[in-house]
Amino acid sequence: MKILLIEDDAMIGRAVRQGLVLAGFAVDWVTDGREAELSLAHGVYDLAILDLGLPKVDGMALLATLRGSGSSMPVLIASARDTVRDRIAGLEAGADDYVLKPFDLDELVARVRALLRRHAGSGSPVLKMGALVLDPVHKSVMQGDTPVDLSAKEFAVLEALMQRPGAVLSRAKLEESVYGWHQEVGSNTIEVHLHNLRRKLGSGVIKNVRGVGYRVTED
Ligand code: CA
Repeated sequence: MKILLIEDDAMIGRAVRQGLVLAGFAVDWVTDGREAELSLAHGVYDLAILDLGLPKVDGMALLATLRGSGSSMPVLIASARDTVRDRIAGLEAGADDYVLKPFDLDELVARVRALLRRHAGSGSPVLKMGALVLDPVHKSVMQGDTPVDLSAKEFAVLEALMQRPGAVLSRAKLEESVYGWHQEVGSNTIEVHLHNLRRKLGSGVIKNVRGVGYRVTED
C-alpha cells in the first residue's frame, strides 16, 4: 500500500513518514503544493495525507483539483485549521477524514487503515485467494491452517498482488507499490522477494506472465 504524504513541516513529516513505514506502508513525502500536484498526476497512490497550509498551492486547491479530475482516492486531511467551518469545508470538498494537529501517530495510522478498508469496499481488512489468507492489520499470512512466515517486503509484494486478484502487475508496478522514493531498490530485488514467496507458498500461487509481470491465482 502506497501513501502520498503532503506536509511542509519537516518534523511532522519525518515523524508521520516513519510511523507509516513502521506500519508497513510505502510512503512518498512531498513538501509543497506544486510537488504534490506532480506526484498526484504521475504517481499511483492508495491514499493521500494532506496538510492544508502548504507553500505554492494550498491543500484545499489540491483537493479540488484531485476531485475535479474524478479521482476517488481516499484523502485524509491533517491540519492545524481547527474551526468547525474548516473541517466542514474540507469534508465537503471531498476529503474522507479530517484530523486536527497535533494528532496521535497511532490514531493517524488506524484512521489510514480504516479509510483503506472502507475504500476497498469491505469492513473486513482480510484478503483471501484460494487457501491463502492475508491480514494487513496483524501482518499475518495463513495458507490453509499453516502460518507462513514472510519478511516485511515479501508481505508487501504479496499484499499488492492480492489486492488485485487475477490482474498482472509488472515488476515496475510492484516496485512502486512496495517502495517509497527514499528507499534504494536493487535491480533484481522484486525478483528476489518473488522467488522467496514462491519458495514459501509453492510455485503455483504466483504466476509469472512472461514479459508482462506477475499475478496471484487460486492454486
Ligand atoms: Ca503546513
